[in-house]
Amino acid sequence: MALLSIILPAYNEEENIANTAGVLSRLLERNEIDYELIFVSDGSRDGTFSEIQRAAGENPRIRGEEFSRNFGKEAAIFAGLEMSLGSAVIVMDCDLQHPPDVIPRMWEKWKAGAEVVEGIKLSRGKESLGHRLSAGLFYRIMSRLIRMDMNASSDFKLLDRKVVDVLLTLPERNTFFRALSFWVGFRTDSVSYEVQERQYGESKWSFFSLMKYAVTNATSFSTLPLQLVTVMGLASILFSLILFVQTVVKYLSGTAVEGFTTVILLILIIGGFLMLSLGIIGHYIARIYEEVKGRPKYIVSRRTGEGTVPETKRNPGTISGAGRNTGRGKTEAGLEAEQDTGKAEAGHEAEQDARKANAGLEAEQDGKANTGLETEQTAGSPVHPGQSREEKR
Ligand code: UDP
Ligand code: MG
Repeated sequence: MALLSIILPAYNEEENIANTAGVLSRLLERNEIDYELIFVSDGSRDGTFSEIQRAAGENPRIRGEEFSRNFGKEAAIFAGLEMSLGSAVIVMDCDLQHPPDVIPRMWEKWKAGAEVVEGIKLSRGKESLGHRLSAGLFYRIMSRLIRMDMNASSDFKLLDRKVVDVLLTLPERNTFFRALSFWVGFRTDSVSYEVQERQYGESKWSFFSLMKYAVTNATSFSTLPLQLVTVMGLASILFSLILFVQTVVKYLSGTAVEGFTTVILLILIIGGFLMLSLGIIGHYIARIYEEVKGRPKYIVSRRTGEGTVPETKRNPGTISGAGRNTGRGKTEAGLEAEQDTGKAEAGHEAEQDARKANAGLEAEQDGKANTGLETEQTAGSPVHPGQSREEKR
């Protein structure tokens, strides 16, 4: 039976974890869907991770990890994708605002051949006026820039393993999951749903975080703002040509004295355009800088409930995350992942022995090696970095 992975990013959601885990597992068991739940705590400052640990202790189909700090929902989604083993993966909020009873419908569509099943919002649910306005503005800008209708789209969607693997090979660090699933293509279907009310806690988005999200995503998906600079340049050239003609005509007709206002205005307008253009270009340079630095999307500090899914269900292609985070090609990524594994393993043997049968280890080590955490684990290791896994066993 095919495995369904459900990814639930969680940031300060301690009240929601147990309830969500219970609701989802009951639903999936009732529908006889083979599943795993992956909670990614995005650097929560409350008891979210201990709740995840507790849930994982009660149900072996639950796994989770915690980031070293808040890296954002996008990073949490990608961490979940990396961890997932299912033939199909659903991403949903862990506050149950994405109604779980849509899951069986998504699953049916996937079984019928859809590779991406988008969750389409029928209405936006109950929100504050400020949130509604800023979200409205955000989606209008985004839809314009990306040329896709983003208003009804959400992060609630099902992806086939094929699509997940493609997403994981994308080298970019600043991702916009919602639009990327459109961008990659594949056979797409959709299900519509009503956004539910949040039961516990409150929305994690403020007006400013939403605006920042808008600008970051707009620039990661479109170079239109850069072209805007060209348009502004052309407009001011046109404007100055007209003024040029006017000035020359005035000069020739002997009435060239009062030009002071024009000069001031011109300086202000051109100065304004220049600064705006520099700002836009600067923003893109900043984005290039971020990508070039090649830092990982997220750093994992803890994991729980691993090794509970049979090895046969693990897809080797999805385990090595190291290469992906370095943003290099796939073959190189694989090679490097192997080396990194060796390295991280060096300091890790005791822990490994205890969990040797654990197929998920490789993923964990890749992540750790990748984030540079192996330095922490060097104490008392007789094994040299780079030594192969087989030798040690
Ligand atoms: N979330 C996250 N990291 C963040 C902010 C939010 O993982 O920095 C998670 C959050 O725990 C929830 C989902 O993203 O599961 C959606 O967040 P929220 O409910 O606050 O957003 P809204 O539903 O109001 O759009
Ligand atoms: Mg929510």
